[in-house]
Amino acid sequence: MNIRSRFSLRPIVNTSGTMTGLGASIARPEVIEAIAAILPQFVEIDDLQRCACAAIAAACGSEAGYITASASAGITLSIAATMTGDDLGLIERLPDSASLKHEVVVQTGHLVNYGAPLDQAIRLCGARAIAVGAATEAHGYQLAGAINSRTTAALFVVSHHTQQYGMIPLEEFIAIAHAKGVPVIVDAASEYDLKGFIAAGADIALYSAHKFLGGPTAGIVAGSKALVRAAYFQNGGIGRGMKVGKEGIAGAIVALQTWAARDHQAVRRLERGYLTLWQERLNLFPGIRAQIDADPTGNPLERLKITVDRIAARITAWDLVDALARSKPGYAAVIARDHEAEQHFFFLDPCNLHPGEEQLVLERVVAELEHARTAPQPIATPFSGRDAGRTAARRRWPD
Ligand SMILES: *Cc1c(COP(=O)(O)O)cnc(C)c1O
Repeated sequence: MNIRSRFSLRPIVNTSGTMTGLGASIARPEVIEAIAAILPQFVEIDDLQRCACAAIAAACGSEAGYITASASAGITLSIAATMTGDDLGLIERLPDSASLKHEVVVQTGHLVNYGAPLDQAIRLCGARAIAVGAATEAHGYQLAGAINSRTTAALFVVSHHTQQYGMIPLEEFIAIAHAKGVPVIVDAASEYDLKGFIAAGADIALYSAHKFLGGPTAGIVAGSKALVRAAYFQNGGIGRGMKVGKEGIAGAIVALQTWAARDHQAVRRLERGYLTLWQERLNLFPGIRAQIDADPTGNPLERLKITVDRIAARITAWDLVDALARSKPGYAAVIARDHEAEQHFFFLDPCNLHPGEEQLVLERVVAELEHARTAPQPIATPFSGRDAGRTAARRRWPD
């Protein structure tokens, strides 16, 4: 039984990456097996989290670790840990942070929105973000100057969402914070490098279990034993509302345990094949330039960057993306990666395709480009208003 038709959901093909709004990623078979096996059983959660602690330590090279609801929860709870330590009374007092250190230094160019504002994940525990530097430029002296007796943590974000140049490099960021006795938390939610941030000296590194790892929705908190323990104890406080169940913990453990043994080269070869297939065909269209593009933060993955000359292609990049996403008889609805569509390009991300879907994607893009080529008028809606239209559509939920 197709689960989508059971819930009256339209079929979609995900070429946008690991998006929460689309169900994140394809869970690995061994993850699904572990989740199914644990769901009917009682377990002692502290012991299951001890098992997670060992799995995270092995995978991330950290002293300790635990599983929480999401990387976003991990941000809030690890900052809370720096504020309260393992004092259970203080943990119950949050988010009232009076008398506690509560400032978190973070570069302005790192204050992203990953579905919710990063700044809000900081505020949730009673802390507040102290922005360091300007949007496109930050300096070590600014970070040093922002740290004072109220500073509880320094937060560093590794992501394609952040400003990609002019920022303080991680090593320098850690050195400055540590020189002032401030722990460093690295939000590496989407980064394949499980060991590098801890190895570089981060006190906590955070990952999403449901992204590249192909685990269930959960967050992985790796770090020093004292901070991980203090973060885990937040489950008796503000962490309660960010609870992860046994299925999330078990699935994340298995995703971590099997990560190293996966054939990463084979995955890359497969994805390279999809990209080349799309690239060769799409480059035959006037006004379309398709290039294989490496991930900006160095993750071992590539995407097809499709640049659209709106005059020659007779369609804008955003109209093409919107057309692909609509249902059309005989074709798959394709959700593309379009954060930068106003700059006349978008991406097709191959990392979440089921076998055969690469053909459906190609057929649909070809169909839309053919349609644009022969349409009586060029397809060119103004970009301004597109976001407002999407916001209005979102606000109509649930109807
Ligand atoms: C995805 C992402 C998050 C949020 O992760 P969740 O586990 O979905 O909460 C936070 N930060 C960055 C950089 C991300 O890419």
